[in-house]
Amino acid sequence: MKIKGVRIYLRQLGDHKCPCCGEHLERLPRRLWQKALSFALPLRHYDCDGCERRFFAFSPCWNKMSIIEKSLRVLATVAVILAAIVISIRILITGMLILSGY
Ligand SMILES: [Zn+2]
Repeated sequence: MKIKGVRIYLRQLGDHKCPCCGEHLERLPRRLWQKALSFALPLRHYDCDGCERRFFAFSPCWNKMSIIEKSLRVLATVAVILAAIVISIRILITGMLILSGY
């Protein structure tokens, strides 16, 4: 899978080796939104020394989790996203009420 030039491998990468050239991979620190997302989908961000590609791949811990834990993590992430949407809408409505003179 490829989104905006970033490859996403929906599997683990054995021994931290690049699937393109076989070079050793460096793990990159994730941004805040990536950390929030990776709570449900434990993706790791890698950078290849050899071909200079950047991509995401599944963390090995995902396969060790039970189906219950995976479900809970997905549900928790959905709850956080929904809460963020509700808070954004409330802020928007409050802003519109203030602008309209209430
Ligand atoms: Zn490579």
